[in-house]
Amino acid sequence: MYELKSLSERCRYVECPSRIGVIEIGNGEVCFIDSGNDRSTAKKALKLIEERKLKLKLIFNTHSHADHIGGNKFLSERTCCEIYAPGVEAAMTRYTYLEPALLYGGYPMPALRGKFMIAEPSQAMTLEHEKLPPGIKSISLPGHTPEMTGYIVDGSIAYIGDAIAPASTLEKYGIFYLYDVSDYLKSLDTLMSLGCSVYLPSHSAPLYDIEEIVNYNRQKISEIAEKITEICDTGLSFDEILAEAFNYYGITITPEQYALIGSTLRSYLSYLMDQGRVSTVIENNMLKWKKS
Ligand SMILES: [Zn+2]
Repeated sequence: MYELKSLSERCRYVECPSRIGVIEIGNGEVCFIDSGNDRSTAKKALKLIEERKLKLKLIFNTHSHADHIGGNKFLSERTCCEIYAPGVEAAMTRYTYLEPALLYGGYPMPALRGKFMIAEPSQAMTLEHEKLPPGIKSISLPGHTPEMTGYIVDGSIAYIGDAIAPASTLEKYGIFYLYDVSDYLKSLDTLMSLGCSVYLPSHSAPLYDIEEIVNYNRQKISEIAEKITEICDTGLSFDEILAEAFNYYGITITPEQYALIGSTLRSYLSYLMDQGRVSTVIENNMLKWKKS
């Protein structure tokens, strides 16, 4: 844990719970892809590069989840590095209270206001192509979040953030967080078309062939969509569907899971409505979803 591992001559990453990409950009300088969970992780990552006489120049965030932007503020204060994030992810990195507000759908309850959900805000600027150092390209991979973005170095090393759920997550939780089901599936297609030699997801070891895990993600999404459609059957309220889903997947409800899985369930219901597989009815002033 917390060691620098190599992917190519100039591409490395910090082995830690939410991996930080480290790319050499010339003149003894590096850019980070994401910044880890918090300032303690960022401090360890910075030490690793400083031991090698490298200087942090830039951070490129893949998306605005707290475990990817948690070290931004510390690193920018310590090194004066610039921070870039794609589109709305930059706004959410500057205004981090928006994350639990998005998940919960209103002013978040107290359990959702800790550092697990709200990172320290940092002055992320909107990512523009001309800000990327030579040889680094951004690739749009939305779905896990509205504008999740991956970074490809020299056409062969892909830092892909949370665009693919690791097998361990799929096996442990059965249902996993995502924002837009349709975009997530399209991003899996995009990943399959990249033809890179190495893919680094934030929460698993580097992958040299992604076909198996991409297919596993597709299969799980299809099963989850089918299960939710089946649960809706003749018409249930959101909380009834959520309780059924929690029971089926063996998840104990907590405020955090209510927000994460609840938000994911809402996204699936919208996806299934778009596909004409479920529809809404109003009964006794209650919105219910039923199988079409
Ligand atoms: Zn994430």
